[in-house]
Amino acid sequence: MADYAALAQAALDAVRDASLVCRTVQRTMDAVRAITKDDSSPVTIADYASQAVVAHTLRGRLPGTLHLVGEETSAYLRNPEHATLLAGTVEAAREVWPEADDDWLLEAVDLGAGEPNPSGFWTLDPIDGTKGFLRGHQYSVCLAYIEHGQVIIGVLGCPNLARDFSVEFDERDGAGSIYWCIRGQGVWELPCTHSGSERPVKIERLPHASPTISYCESVDSSHTYREAVMSVMEAVGASGEPSRLDGQGKYAVVARGQVDAHVRLPRKRPYVERIWDHAPGALIAAEAGCSVSDARGEPLDFSHGRGLEKNIGIVVAPPALHGRIVGAIAKRGLI
Ligand code: AMP
Ligand code: MG
Repeated sequence: MADYAALAQAALDAVRDASLVCRTVQRTMDAVRAITKDDSSPVTIADYASQAVVAHTLRGRLPGTLHLVGEETSAYLRNPEHATLLAGTVEAAREVWPEADDDWLLEAVDLGAGEPNPSGFWTLDPIDGTKGFLRGHQYSVCLAYIEHGQVIIGVLGCPNLARDFSVEFDERDGAGSIYWCIRGQGVWELPCTHSGSERPVKIERLPHASPTISYCESVDSSHTYREAVMSVMEAVGASGEPSRLDGQGKYAVVARGQVDAHVRLPRKRPYVERIWDHAPGALIAAEAGCSVSDARGEPLDFSHGRGLEKNIGIVVAPPALHGRIVGAIAKRGLI
């Protein structure tokens, strides 16, 4: 059996370093845009640098072959027309990987071109919530280890998410938050900027107690059927506008008890969710004491390659509320 504690420590360090790189690129976004004359170049640079840093760290720290299913490949960066972006990516990665050069960086990005391996593999979304990153709002660095279809380790770097609940989601935090867990061992929180000496805080989702019910959803209205979600949530007692944030920070804010539920329903055209968009968040919410399922109440099934082929939608909430949400979805014939 794999040494899960060693895997989790390497994953935590990898996500912490990648999160630091993303924060720096975001801080210097205007300068990056000015040099590259391209509005989306900061996210491109941060995406590739984040994937390279995570892959490089996991390879250096863990024995054996690295099976990593990452969202990015190096083809775009290898195109000579994108040399400026490659140079920017190498420079960004050097903040935490000082020896990085063009060839090593490209090779590290390509370590993410692995296939799901039933006996154990990693999945990475180097920046989940691209649009949130570009707006300077929420996004996350998402890494999970999956064995025989079960998520075993989850790490979420949320570089702009304040640990203080009174800070608005669209306010950029100076320290950010990082969440990690090993199945069966609970969830832990640290600032993204931690140096390794701070004591992690255990996160637990208390049963829902307040008279009002809140929920969160994607900022991008094409990623969820907002009107249907609103009718379901009103049926279980929610009122008012949901919080909206990009990336898997949605799982974290429910796990830590700030928001009561996260619901995602597909719009009419069926959409197969990608494993890297849900694996770490789903384990983190479940380990904090939430119920996590698809819209029919079925467990998320990570044993079908890159997609959650057997699932439709997502429901995350404390157990009693979760049951009521799934019931309200079924009653409305939404799945
Ligand atoms: P979110 O930040 O929760 O809106 O999710 C971002 C992720 O949604 C991206 O990483 C995409 O992989 C994924 N995505 C893209 N298109 C869709 C879609 N039509 N429905 C649901 N998710 C999508
Ligand atoms: Mg994503």
